[in-house]
Amino acid sequence: MDATSERHTEIAERLRVVRERIEHACTGAGRETGEIGLVVVTKFFPASDIEHLVDLGVTDIGENKDQEAGAKVAELGADVRAAVTVHFIGQLQTNKANRVTRYADVVQSVDRARLVTALDRGVGTALGSGARHTPLEVTLQVDLGEGEDQGRGGALPDDLPALAEEVAGAEHLRLRGLMAVAPFGLDEAGTRAAFDRLAALGERLRADHPGASWLSAGMSGDLELAIAAGTTHLRVGSAILGSRPQQR
Ligand SMILES: *Cc1c(COP(=O)(O)O)cnc(C)c1O
Repeated sequence: MDATSERHTEIAERLRVVRERIEHACTGAGRETGEIGLVVVTKFFPASDIEHLVDLGVTDIGENKDQEAGAKVAELGADVRAAVTVHFIGQLQTNKANRVTRYADVVQSVDRARLVTALDRGVGTALGSGARHTPLEVTLQVDLGEGEDQGRGGALPDDLPALAEEVAGAEHLRLRGLMAVAPFGLDEAGTRAAFDRLAALGERLRADHPGASWLSAGMSGDLELAIAAGTTHLRVGSAILGSRPQQR
């Protein structure tokens, strides 16, 4: 086997295992696998891996650094690009917002009003120039840290209603729900409780914004707990693509 087909086989096998984990967790939680979107996080991995993923039926990818993401998406062939929804999931500086709107279909990491304004303006420009043809879908990132927990970025729960109003009022943005990363250093019960807090915040959000039904939570290490708590979108990287270069 050459290197390309070896990599394809490796990703196929890992993806199969993750899909089995998802199925198993859904069975345990009384949910349908069709309720769960799988966003494969491709940060640090090359565009060729995205081609393998699309070939294996993956429809959503996630990236967390603007420079890397922009270059990688530009490398994709038109058919591969058309087959995937690109989610930006990383911390985003306001001055990079404009660039992200040229290649991202979704920004999951919206955590402050200034970023909302910058993204809306960026999408408006990109629509005007033909660089994009659709509004930008947005989830609000929530900080689930509590007390001693180390939060992992995001807006504080108390700030969500105002931030949601900002997005709802933005011409080119569509509010889809919430995103969170489990705080560092929690045991299983702690992670479960954090995801339950996220689900409760999501329910509150939907009371005012019925279309904001996404809960993006669950990564390689905790996807079962997220499925039990009601997640609609998993963001899985290393379990499918292997350990990232900086972790090797
Ligand atoms: C890297 C990353 C992931 C994927 O993490 P894994 O543990 O590799 O599955 C998910 N969400 C965000 C925000 C990330 O930055």
